[in-house]
Amino acid sequence: RRRRTAAASSGPGRTADGHPVRLMVNLGAPHELAAAAEADSEGVGLFRTEFLYLDRATAPGAEEQREAYRRVFDAFAGRRVVVRTLDAGADKPLPFATAADEPNPALGVRGLRTAVRHPELLDTQLAAVAHAARATGAEVWVMAPMVSVPAEARAFAEQARSHGLRTAGAMVEVPAAALRAGQLAEECDFLSIGTNDLAQYAFAADRMLGSLAALLDPWQPALLELVRQSAEAGTAHGRPVGVCGEAASDPLLALVLVGLGVTSLSAAPGCLAGVRGSLASRTLAECRELAGLALAAPDAAGARRAVTAAARPAA
Ligand code: PEP
Ligand code: MG
Repeated sequence: RRRRTAAASSGPGRTADGHPVRLMVNLGAPHELAAAAEADSEGVGLFRTEFLYLDRATAPGAEEQREAYRRVFDAFAGRRVVVRTLDAGADKPLPFATAADEPNPALGVRGLRTAVRHPELLDTQLAAVAHAARATGAEVWVMAPMVSVPAEARAFAEQARSHGLRTAGAMVEVPAAALRAGQLAEECDFLSIGTNDLAQYAFAADRMLGSLAALLDPWQPALLELVRQSAEAGTAHGRPVGVCGEAASDPLLALVLVGLGVTSLSAAPGCLAGVRGSLASRTLAECRELAGLALAAPDAAGARRAVTAAARPAA
């Protein structure tokens, strides 16, 4: 049996009683690659690909994309890389992909919805990911942002498979997707909860507005309830269910997320050690108890307070 201290400082994530929790890094720009690859992780849980598309008049070509993806896959040879396909629109407008005249861009044609209007964008991207994946030792998964209904997950997974990408998932960022996570899970291979957008849409609170930060607090019990439903429904279908939004970077909240049934956490490289250590100090049963306390709280501050108090003795 591994010693607690060894489990806490390195290696795959696990609770004190050995329940595995895959710990992965978020990656969003080429300059982050070295630190991300060096971090002690089981791979990239969220590879944001928007950097390739932003600040330009036309979409990047296939060759440029292949090169960019290959660099990341090579750096993670032997590990998993979850590529999030283009999330255009709202906070990430693109002249060649998003309409400039939408009254509510966050509720407009964004994320996977962009692929309906511009099918060639997603097709070129999936082809480039597949091409780069064939040439490396990384285990490449793809996932779509802003999936709202099961049919979207199915269409995305079919398109990914047509390019030879065998593992395709849906992000849960819209309350409707969380409420129907079981049906979503039937249509694809895994779910990944984006708590930033899920909070935005659950609370009807613009994530760009600092004045609404209290509503967007990842400790909000209503948000945690959506996480619980997604994790429960996804795992009931035998699917991994990760969290890749900012909620995953808080060591205390990580215990709650695992207690809610989440199977992997993806966060900034600098946050992983804290999350790993936190998990190693608690059993799965303790995580479930903490999750129960958070869900029962009336608000985010209450949830944080209850979990902090209950977690203190063994910390
Ligand atoms: C999220 O919404 O939580 C997420 C991970 O995606 P992004 O922050 O890129 O929208
Ligand atoms: Mg998002």
